[in-house]
Amino acid sequence: MNAPSRAPSTESPTLSAPGPLADDAISQLASLTAQRDRELLDVSLAQGVLELLGAVSVGVYRLVGAETDAKHWLCSGLARRGQLTVSDPVWADMDALPAQERFPLRLEALEIRAAVQSVLPASPTVLKEGRYTCVMPLLAEIGMPGVLEVRSELALTPESLRPIQTLLRVFANFQSLLESSQRDALTGLLNRQTFDTTFLKASMPVVPAGGPGGLPADPERRQGAATGYWLGVIDIDHFKRVNDGYGHLIGDEVLVLVARIMRQTFRHSDRLYRFGGEEFVVLLRGGTEADALGAFERFRLLVEGYAFPQVGRVTVSVGFTEVQLQDTPNAAFSRADQAVYQAKHQGRNRVVGFEALVRAGLIGNGHPHVGDVELF
Ligand code: GH3
Ligand code: MG
Ligand code: MG
Repeated sequence: MNAPSRAPSTESPTLSAPGPLADDAISQLASLTAQRDRELLDVSLAQGVLELLGAVSVGVYRLVGAETDAKHWLCSGLARRGQLTVSDPVWADMDALPAQERFPLRLEALEIRAAVQSVLPASPTVLKEGRYTCVMPLLAEIGMPGVLEVRSELALTPESLRPIQTLLRVFANFQSLLESSQRDALTGLLNRQTFDTTFLKASMPVVPAGGPGGLPADPERRQGAATGYWLGVIDIDHFKRVNDGYGHLIGDEVLVLVARIMRQTFRHSDRLYRFGGEEFVVLLRGGTEADALGAFERFRLLVEGYAFPQVGRVTVSVGFTEVQLQDTPNAAFSRADQAVYQAKHQGRNRVVGFEALVRAGLIGNGHPHVGDVELF
C-alpha cells in the first residue's frame, strides 16, 4: 500500500512568522536572560521596554529600606530616548531618595497588582516629557518590590501592553531564579559564591569621567589605597556548644535569628552573606574606620542582648578590615579572619579591626596579600 502523497497546496494554512513587535519582544527576552548580574537586570529591562515601545522614558523603581523603616524609591534602571541608560547607585543615601508616598500611582500598581495609567493635561513641557504615565508592577516572589514606569506621548493600547506584560512575566521568573541561586537557603542572606563578584566591584578603581582606560589619574593610588568599603567577618562564639546542648534544629534557629539581626543592623547598601556554618560576612559601604567599628559594635551588642529561644544568650566575635584598591577577596578575607582570631583570643564577644592590630604591633606587615592573584 502506497503512502498517500500530498503535494503542498498553496491553500493549506501555514505557520505565519511573528509580527515585528513579537519578534522584537523575543529578542529582548534573549538579551534579558543573558544577564547574570542582578544589579544590571533592571537596567536591561528598562532599555528593552524603551526599544519595544518607542516611549519617551522607561524606569524601573524599587522600594528600599530596612525592614522596620519607611520605604524610599530607588531607581534601579532608567532608559530615556537618545540617552544612556542609568540607575541610582545601590549605595544611594536613603534621605536623598524620594519617600514612597511621593508616587501614589506606583503604590497603587503594587497594591492592585495590575497596570495603572494616568494622563496629564497638555502643556509644552508635559508634551516633551510624555503626557501618559503607565505603571506596571514587577511581580517577582523574592527581591525588593518594584514597578516599571513608562512615560509616552501617546496612550498605551492594550495591544502594545500585551508583549510588555509577557516580558514582565518572564522577567519575574528569571529574577526569582537568579535571586535564589545567589542566596543561602537557611537564612536568605547572599551566599559565598556571589561574594567574589561583588567584592571585585568594590575593590576596582572608581572610573574617573572620561579617564583613559578607566584608570585613576594617580598611578600611586592604583594599589593599596582605600576604597571606602569595609569587610567584616562574624563568627558565633562557642556555637558547637549550642548544637551539642540543644540540637541542630535549635542551632539552625540561632543562625536564622542572627541573620535577622544583621538585616536590622546594617544598611540596605551593605551586602550581607552567610559563608557557611556559623560564619557570616558583611561588606560595608562608606564611612571611616570609626564608623565601621561603630556599626559592628552595634551589631555585637544587639546579639548579646537578644534572648534566643531556649538557648538564651549567644555572642559573636567580629574582625574587620578596610578593602584596598585591587585587593583580592581572599586577601581581604584573610585579614578580617586574623582579626576574628584575635577577638577569640582576647576572650570572644568583641570587635577587632585588623588595621588597629597592625598599629598596636600585634600583627606585622600591613597587607601581605594585596595585589596577589590567588587561584583556588
Ligand atoms: P568559637 O567560639 O571558637 O568559634 O567556637 P565554635 O564552637 O563556634 O567553633 P567551631 O568552629 O569549633 O564550631 C562550629 C560549629 O558550627 C560546628 C558545627 O557543629 C556547627 N555548624 C556548622 N554548620 C552548621 C549548620 O548549618 N547548622 C548548625 N546547626 N550548626 C552548624
Ligand atoms: Mg567558625
Ligand atoms: Mg564559632
